[in-house]
Amino acid sequence: MDTILSINHISHSYHTLKGETPALYDISFSVNQGEFLAVVGPSGCGKSTLLSLISGLLQPEKGEILLHGKPIEEQKDKIGYMLQRDELLEWRSIYRNVLLGPEIQHSLNPEVKKRAHELLDAYGLGQFQSSRPSELSGGMRQRAALVRTLILNPEVLLLDEPFSALDYQTRLNVSDDIGQIIRREGKTALLVTHDLSEAISLADRILVLSSRPASLKTTVSLHFGFPKPADDTPLNRRNAPEFKTYFNLIWKELNQHENQTD
Ligand code: ADP
Ligand code: MG
Repeated sequence: MDTILSINHISHSYHTLKGETPALYDISFSVNQGEFLAVVGPSGCGKSTLLSLISGLLQPEKGEILLHGKPIEEQKDKIGYMLQRDELLEWRSIYRNVLLGPEIQHSLNPEVKKRAHELLDAYGLGQFQSSRPSELSGGMRQRAALVRTLILNPEVLLLDEPFSALDYQTRLNVSDDIGQIIRREGKTALLVTHDLSEAISLADRILVLSSRPASLKTTVSLHFGFPKPADDTPLNRRNAPEFKTYFNLIWKELNQHENQTD
């Protein structure tokens, strides 16, 4: 399989007036083209830091991050970053929120506008194009935020706990829904979550990070024995016998390092 992203021996610390906070320690992994990777780890371990480094917003102290074998800093536009809060602007309609990125990049043209309408239609927001964000449900807002990220046509999508502001029921539906959209778009995705069930229901592979400074504890590839690829949906995964096995395995890994820090 083709490697799209290589993370090579990344370490990073924050320096503030209060001193140094090591956040990541010697992390290496690679991501294949079209792969859906989930990153789990204890709260405060450095997950968001890892995504900020991959997005090129932060520069690592040590190590390098390569997209297609070249430094990420020169190709930030190929990375789409979706945050926990949807960051939709209330004074813009949903459609105009979606066009914000192309506007900033000066790439707004009739084709992009057409694609914005198509994406909004395809993902159930066609009737809400002229609505304000506050008129949408939490799940619809997340979908709008995803469309806003997709319109820039990123090669890699970074998702930082995008569902954690939603209530449980909505969260299940929206995470399944958005997982399917990302698959359909054929994007490579990195999802940071503290919700193990979410990770197992969506990902091809899960990286388990240790507590801070995060190092890569283990990697688990997920295989579900569905007869047809089309059956491999988040909902079906949650009901499959393998789900529990993976859950227990990764749960044990996560709790092992909690005990070590006690
Ligand atoms: P996570 O996303 O896993 O909860 P973060 O990557 O946000 O963890 O943070 C890792 C550690 O780095 C935390 O201890 C946090 O307080 C610290 N940290 C994060 N951002 C900054 C910053 N801008 N300045 C100083 N320390 C930071
Ligand atoms: Mg975080």
